[in-house]
Amino acid sequence: MTGAPPVRSGGCLCGGVKFQVSGPLRDVVYCHCQMCQKLHGGPGAHTKAQNHQITITEGRGLKWYRSSQIAQRGFCGECGSSLFWQPDQQDSTGILAGALEQPSKLKTMGHIFVGEKADFYEINDSCPQFQKSSDGAFPDDHT
Ligand SMILES: [Zn+2]
Ligand SMILES: [Zn+2]
Repeated sequence: MTGAPPVRSGGCLCGGVKFQVSGPLRDVVYCHCQMCQKLHGGPGAHTKAQNHQITITEGRGLKWYRSSQIAQRGFCGECGSSLFWQPDQQDSTGILAGALEQPSKLKTMGHIFVGEKADFYEINDSCPQFQKSSDGAFPDDHT
């Protein structure tokens, strides 16, 4: 059976940011880069959706931080939840998978920037690992 994927809801801890995604969500790519470690306190578990399929339904708390020359990060300025990774040159936005309501029905695709991984945890699944970006192996990963 085909048809439109269900609308998924997500948001921050305090409710100051809420969003809906009407299209398909990419499976989760864990990014172990140093920026993600600082921002999330550990690796960043990102799913992704097309920009035009993401609707911000509550934007009161939404703030953007330019974390690099190629992307900005969206977070809630009231509770601090990490929410989005938005690259300038793509028409899709990374969404922190933990912001989605459960069940997310997503799986882990793999790991990127493993070369920058922090030393206090191990990666114990059998998913593919890349030292830097996946070079296209994962759609629109976190370069
Ligand atoms: Zn919040
Ligand atoms: Zn990262």
